[in-house]
Amino acid sequence: MAETREFKTEVQQLLQLMIHSLYSNRDIFLRELVANAADALDKARFESLTDPGSARDWKIVITPDKEAKTLTISDNGIGMTADDVVENIGTIAKSGTRAFLKMLEEKGENSADIPELIGQFGVGFYSAFMVASSVELTTRRGDAPAVRWSSTGEGSYELDAAEKSTPGTDIVLHLKEDAELYLENWKISEIVHRYSDFIAYPIVMPEKKIDDEKNETVEERTLNSQKAIWLRKPSEITDDEYKSFYAHLANFSGTEYLKAIHMTAEGASEFKALLFLPKQAPFNLLMPDIQKKGLQLYIKRMFITDECKELLPDYLRFVCGVVDSSDLPLNVSREILQQNPMLDKIRNAVTGKILTELKKLLENDRENYEKFFVEFGRIIKEGIHMDRANAEKIKDLVLYESMNTPEGKRITLKEYVDAMPESQKDIYFITGEKREAVASSPALEYFRAKGYDVLFMVDPIDEWVMQSMYQYAQKFFKSVNKGDFEDKELEEKSKAAQEKYAAVAEFLKKSLEDKVSEVRFSGRLTGSPCCLIVDGQALSPHMERLFRAMNQEVPVSKRILELNGDHPLIAAFSSRLAANADDAALKRYAGILYDQALLLEGSPLPDPAAFAREVVELLSGVLK
Ligand code: ADP
Repeated sequence: MAETREFKTEVQQLLQLMIHSLYSNRDIFLRELVANAADALDKARFESLTDPGSARDWKIVITPDKEAKTLTISDNGIGMTADDVVENIGTIAKSGTRAFLKMLEEKGENSADIPELIGQFGVGFYSAFMVASSVELTTRRGDAPAVRWSSTGEGSYELDAAEKSTPGTDIVLHLKEDAELYLENWKISEIVHRYSDFIAYPIVMPEKKIDDEKNETVEERTLNSQKAIWLRKPSEITDDEYKSFYAHLANFSGTEYLKAIHMTAEGASEFKALLFLPKQAPFNLLMPDIQKKGLQLYIKRMFITDECKELLPDYLRFVCGVVDSSDLPLNVSREILQQNPMLDKIRNAVTGKILTELKKLLENDRENYEKFFVEFGRIIKEGIHMDRANAEKIKDLVLYESMNTPEGKRITLKEYVDAMPESQKDIYFITGEKREAVASSPALEYFRAKGYDVLFMVDPIDEWVMQSMYQYAQKFFKSVNKGDFEDKELEEKSKAAQEKYAAVAEFLKKSLEDKVSEVRFSGRLTGSPCCLIVDGQALSPHMERLFRAMNQEVPVSKRILELNGDHPLIAAFSSRLAANADDAALKRYAGILYDQALLLEGSPLPDPAAFAREVVELLSGVLK
C-alpha cells in the first residue's frame, strides 16, 4: 500500500519554516508531542469508561537512542486510522495553518517567541521538524490496521502498512546534527519538568542501571509529578508551578497571568476550580474558528474535555482554567453530559466568583485593572447585553474615558455619578470612533459650560451595549449626540432665536433639504455656529458606518441641524438674507456650514474636493 502524497501548499510553507527558520526555543517540540500524547490518552481513557476491556496502563514513554540518534515518543492512547493520519497531519491544512502563517508574516519569521505560539494554532505536530531531519509515525487505532507515516518535511510524505502489536502511537524523530542535545537524559527531564509536570499520566524514560554484579537492567524513571494543581492548597503552590500550569492551559508560555483564582464549592454542587485571568489577549482571541472556548472539565480528577463551553459565559471567554466536579456522572457521553443542569450551577458559581475577583482587582489594584480592561474590556462589556442577571455587577466593572479625564485615563460609572453636580440628573455620553473625534464635538459645549462630565464611548461595541444599559444608580443614560435632554432656560433661549431668525432656519432647510430633516435653534451651543444631532431612535452616523463596514444595508438617515442663535455668523447670515433673499452665494455658504459640522464631529465628507474648492474660493474673496 506504500504511497507518496503531497502536503497542501500551506503545510509545505509551514514545514519550510520549521525546518529552515526557527532556531530559538526549540525545546517546545517535546511539549507539543507530549501534549498530543496526553490528548490521545485522554480520549482512550474516556472510551474505556464504556468499554472497560480497553483499559490499560496509560503512559507516555520517551526513549532516546544515542547510537541511532533518534528520540521516540510513544503513547498507548487512542491512536489513528490511516484516514485519521491523512486528515490530521497530512493533506488537509487546518484553519490554524493559515492563521499561523499570517501571524508569521505580521511578526516576522525571526521573532524569538514564535515557537511558543505554535500550540495555539493547532499545528504542534509539525514542530517536530525543528529538531528532526525526518519523522516516522506508527499508529494503530483499536483493531484497525496499523499505519506508518514518514516524511522529511520537504514537500511530501509516505504512507505504508505497518505492524504494531498494541493500540497507540510511536513517533520516531531522527534528530538533526545540531539537535543531539535532545538525546541527553537531563535535557529531556528538564523539559518535561518545566512544561509537562502536571500531565495526569506518567511520562517515563527507560534508564539503564548497572547493579553491583555488573548486570545491566532497564528501569523506567517517571519524569513528572502528575500533581493535580487545582486540588492543592494555594499556599503550597509555587509561582513556577502556577506559571507552568497557566502556560499549559493557555497553550502559550510567552505570557504571564494576572491572577490565579482558586474555588472550592460545597453543598448543592461540589467542585474545585482553578481559574486564571490573563494579562494579555492571546493572538487567537479574535480568531473564533481556532480559539478554544470554555474551561477544562474533569470529573473526580478524570479529564473529560478541554473545551467545556457550558462552564463559562461567552463574555468571560478570555478566562482559562480547570473545573473538577465531584458530582457529575462519569459514565455518560460528552454530549449528554453537556446538557446536565449541574453545569449551569457551576457556570453561575464560576461567573459570580470571577466578577467578584474583578471587582476586588478594580478596588485594590487600579493600575493593573486598567491595563487588563484595555485588553479585555470590550469583551466584558458584551455581558451587559448578554447576561441580564449579572448586568448590574458588570456595569460596576466597566471603565470609560470622559470629557474631564486626561487621555488614556478611565473612570467607572460610580466615579462619574459621584462627581455629578447637584443640578445634573442624567448620565451623559457621546459615541464616536475615537477620543480625538468626540472630544472636539460642539455637542459637548453645553455640558462643559454646565460643569457636567460626558462619557466617551469610543469602542465599536459601545453603541450596541448602550441599548441595554438603561440605567445606572437610578440615573438614565442620555446620548449627547441625540440631544434628548431638557433644560427650561435653554428652551426659552432657543424659542427666542427661532423667532428672531426664522428666515435663516427656513432658508437653510430649503438649501440643505436633501441632507437634513430639520433645522432648529438650540441654546446648548456656545462656541460653534451649528452642529448635527440624531433624531430620537435613529442610528448615529458612527453606527451607520459600522453597519456598512459589515456589509449591512442601512438607510441613510437625515439628521437635525441645530443652530446657535448667539453666534455672529447667524446674525451676519440673517442680514445678508434680509438684503437679498436670492443671494446665490448664501446657498453655497449653507453647504459649507453643513460640511464643517460633519468635519467637527469626525465624520467623513461626502465630497472633500468640493469642500476644499469652496474654502479656497472663500479665502480668495476675503484676501482680495
Ligand atoms: P493539535 O494537537 O493542536 O490538534 P497537532 O498538529 O499537534 O495539532 O496534531 C494534529 C492532530 O493529529 C491532533 O489533533 C490529533 O488528532 C492527531 N494526533 C497527533 N498526535 C497524536 C497522537 N500521539 N495520538 C493520536 N492522535 C494524534
